[in-house]
Amino acid sequence: MAFAKWMSRLGTETAFEVLAKARQLEAMGREIVHLEIGEPDFDTPRFICDAAVEALRAGYTHYGPSAGLPEVRESISAYVTRTRGVQYGPENVVVTPGAKPIIFFSLIACVEAGDEVIYPDPAFPIYESMVNFLGAKPVPLKLREERGFSVDVDELASLLTDKTRFLILNSPANPTGGVIPKEDLARVAELVRDRDLYVLSDEIYSRILYEGEHHSIASCPGMREKTIILDGHSKTYAMTGWRLGYGVMPVDLANHMTRLMTNSNSCCNVFVQRAGMKALEGPQDEVEAMVAEFQRRRDVIVDGLNAIPGFRCARPKGAFYAFPNVSQIPVPSRQLAADLLDKAGVACLSGTSFGAGGDGYLRFSYANSVKNLETALARIRGYLEEAGLAS
Ligand code: PMP
Repeated sequence: MAFAKWMSRLGTETAFEVLAKARQLEAMGREIVHLEIGEPDFDTPRFICDAAVEALRAGYTHYGPSAGLPEVRESISAYVTRTRGVQYGPENVVVTPGAKPIIFFSLIACVEAGDEVIYPDPAFPIYESMVNFLGAKPVPLKLREERGFSVDVDELASLLTDKTRFLILNSPANPTGGVIPKEDLARVAELVRDRDLYVLSDEIYSRILYEGEHHSIASCPGMREKTIILDGHSKTYAMTGWRLGYGVMPVDLANHMTRLMTNSNSCCNVFVQRAGMKALEGPQDEVEAMVAEFQRRRDVIVDGLNAIPGFRCARPKGAFYAFPNVSQIPVPSRQLAADLLDKAGVACLSGTSFGAGGDGYLRFSYANSVKNLETALARIRGYLEEAGLAS
């Protein structure tokens, strides 16, 4: 039985594959330091778990509206209005199981075969996967180490054509931790404001920021009507397994996305939505403590990687990934990542898992204890010395 052709165009997320391989090694008795998967190692704050239990007991166990519970959409719109300084109402919000469907749905709703989609490279691999799946033309926008892995606005200008229908931005970014400065967002807005396109602004790491304030392109003049803000609870509230995310967008697009929800999921889990509302409205001190701890770990891993011969690691401004340049080591990054897992017991990802622009880099998620980070650093150094790769 042959499968549909479009399945051959669908990509994947290597983090899940490496995690599976690492688990296999563990089942064989190996001890692995997990720096591959992008999720906070903290537990979901207790008051959020309690809110979910309360909601279950109160009978939030039935179908809800496809776009999300009205009070939850209201709460999300108030949160996004407050944090982005742009006025939104509940009609602008679609609640989804995790934020990932917002990528899929917004592209399905806006892009046709042959349309051009500009997205960062290296970046979260699902962007490119979805663009290819839909038969649109992928137009990677290179993020360069020397620019702090931010967007080069002049380069973006040179990629825009009459066929550009969609632009994806991600700040703070996976896998680089790069942040797009406010002035550059304003310049990007000027470039695209009068064009017939949508901007997907992936702001899933908006709260995991170590300096300055988060800025959304939606707050630039004229951009509210062209921007889809993607955000969610996975990273901010350590709720990856709960599956709760949302998109905030113009109403006509929200209506299309709601229909996509009806066709795919019916609705997002309702007791999880109720808990998510409490997360936004409750005390934020655990988020702040988590981010402070991530910053401490960032410095441990960045300093540690920079002390390893052949590694050069920029200090990321946000998210929880270190993205060292390993091009001085005479082994392709994909092979190096595989060897670090097999031979050193350190699970990380090759930069190429995030696009061609990631060649010569590795990604380490530092959502792990300082003790484990130090173990990983010692193992990497030991392996490179043993293999004669530390020069
Ligand atoms: N965007 C980016 C840049 C991400 O890194 C992730 C998760 N790794 C997502 C979106 C999706 O988040 P969720 O788990 O809520 O679907």
